[in-house]
Amino acid sequence: MGDTTQRSVLVVEDNELNMRLFCDLLDAYGYGTFECRDGANAVEIARAERPDLIIMDIQLPEVSGLDITRWIKDDEDLADIPVLAVTAFAMRSDEERVREAGCEGYLSKPIQIGSFMKAVESLIHKNGRAA
Ligand code: MN
Repeated sequence: MGDTTQRSVLVVEDNELNMRLFCDLLDAYGYGTFECRDGANAVEIARAERPDLIIMDIQLPEVSGLDITRWIKDDEDLADIPVLAVTAFAMRSDEERVREAGCEGYLSKPIQIGSFMKAVESLIHKNGRAA
C-alpha cells in the first residue's frame, strides 16, 4: 500500500494479562506498541517515542493514571496525543474524573475487543496525524 509509517500506541498497564491482551490486539491490527508497567516513566517514554495514542490504566502501583494524564496534558509537546483510559471501576463518577483529567476516551474493564479497537481507531483518526 506504500504506507511505511506504522502507527504506535503506548500501553500503560500494570496487570500482565491486560498488557498482553492489549498489545497482542494492537499488534494484530498492525500497530506498534510500547509497554510501561508502573507508570512512573510513562511521560518519558511518550516524549521519546511520540506514540499516536496512549492507553492508560487508571489504577497503577506508583502513581494514578489520572495524574499521568494531567502531566501529559500539561505538557505542550505531548498534549495532542490522545489518551484512552481503561479502568476496572465503572461508576459514573469515574468517567467524570477521567474526562476532567483530560482523557479523550474511556473504557471499563473487562474490555470488549470490538469496542476497544473501535475506540483506538477513532481516537487515532480523530487526531488527524497523517500516516
Ligand atoms: Mn492496574
